[in-house]
Amino acid sequence: NVRVRFAPSPTGPLHIGGVRTALFNYLFAKKHNGTFVLRIEDTDQTRYVANAENYITESLEWCGIPFDEGPGKNEKFGPYRQSERKDIYKKYADALVASNQAYYAFDTAEELTDIRNQAEANKTVFVYNNVSRETLNNSINLSKEEVENKLTAGEKYVIRFKTPKDQKLILDDMIRGEITIDTNTLDDKILFKSDGMPTYHLANIVDDHLMEISHVIRGEEWLPSLPLHSLLYEAFGWIAPKFAHLPLILKPVGKGKLSKRDGDKLGFPVFPLDYINKETNEVSTGYKEEGYFNDAFINMLALLGWNPGTEQELFSLEELCKEFSIERVSKSGAKFSIDKTKWFNQQYMMSTDVSKIVIEFKILNKDLISDYDDDYIYKVITSVRERATFTKDLWELSDYYFVNPTSYDEKTARKQWKEDTSAIMTAVLETIKNVTEFNSKNIEGKVKEYITANELGFGKVLQPLRLSIVGAMKGPDLFEIIEMIGKENAIKRIENAIQ
Ligand code: GLU
Repeated sequence: NVRVRFAPSPTGPLHIGGVRTALFNYLFAKKHNGTFVLRIEDTDQTRYVANAENYITESLEWCGIPFDEGPGKNEKFGPYRQSERKDIYKKYADALVASNQAYYAFDTAEELTDIRNQAEANKTVFVYNNVSRETLNNSINLSKEEVENKLTAGEKYVIRFKTPKDQKLILDDMIRGEITIDTNTLDDKILFKSDGMPTYHLANIVDDHLMEISHVIRGEEWLPSLPLHSLLYEAFGWIAPKFAHLPLILKPVGKGKLSKRDGDKLGFPVFPLDYINKETNEVSTGYKEEGYFNDAFINMLALLGWNPGTEQELFSLEELCKEFSIERVSKSGAKFSIDKTKWFNQQYMMSTDVSKIVIEFKILNKDLISDYDDDYIYKVITSVRERATFTKDLWELSDYYFVNPTSYDEKTARKQWKEDTSAIMTAVLETIKNVTEFNSKNIEGKVKEYITANELGFGKVLQPLRLSIVGAMKGPDLFEIIEMIGKENAIKRIENAIQ
């Protein structure tokens, strides 16, 4: 029974790495008929950002990868916000203290700072670990009574994990294989804080266990926590889930991890929700606002770290759910590219169901196209969409289908409109007027007949004709445009141009 979770901390908008983690969890769940859980890890009150949770769920909705179980939805293992589970964690920390696998530490922040500074002065680094703990202010070095007294006196304490000494841990990662760790390289991490809240490590393990998570799929930045997490499962006597740590997403150019800053520049996060970038004071825009199709975005994201083993690049979400496998996730980082992201959008622009584009196009340009019916708009979009990357590009590519040109590109006009052009266009106008069955084939036939009969060059006639009809030297087949806009409009446009 596959159960995976996406466990973001609501500390701000979701960045691309977070969305990718969510996506891979979703795909893995769907592939195995499993359950995709959303858990909000909000135990660190100092980093809490209002609205961030909404932001996360709306992002998942927009991406088309909603969670099956989580806050407000199929709350079988709820609550799903760690802040609402506060009371659960303490007893697990206590249990580890009782079984001598964790201990109370009474060291104050000042004491630890002093020790750290002293170490630094001696050119060493202080680590709270299985060697140093023997000399520090904790329950390992105090009598039972002393500990009791401190606790009843209300002295502040944290609970630390007692990392076992001299053990060789053999960890297994579904992507990286076997990893061997010497426990002497680990420190005694805090499990429970003096403010009465669990740390990420404790809450995360307890919840994964209670929520019966079978596979933990998360970013590589959590790999260093894996030894501690494995030890915690062992200490509790629980069966650990399987782990998979996803490769980093790298900057488009140069070396290193894609940073939040690169992200903002490239239009992250997925979409904003009253979110203001504290550094620049700008309201962030996301892929949604930039005009990306959600399925193009998801398609691009799926290939950041995963590959199908073939040359195929275009995948629907449904196909991804079928094809996805953790075995084909790479160990090495995946380079993000905004150009590639645009390329995906363009591919979707060409192949997506036109009605989807028409709906958006109508919203964007409603005042300009209100005289036209859907059928007409469909035809227009079908003929120009292969030149567009985004729906917002479509108006510039198709305006002449909807409005008669009011001006002409001056440079082109000077070049195309010679002394004899007005006379020629007057003749073309008559020719067009005489086309009875007004379709592109007939129009083309008649106009070309006129051209050959008068021994004129095609360019000499067709270029100014395009200028008259379109207002610029752009657009698909001219005669198809003329058919589309209709005889009346065509006549009007040529007359306007001649004047
Ligand atoms: N709350 C952690 C985060 O923000 C979750 C890490 C994990 O998946 O274990 O990424």
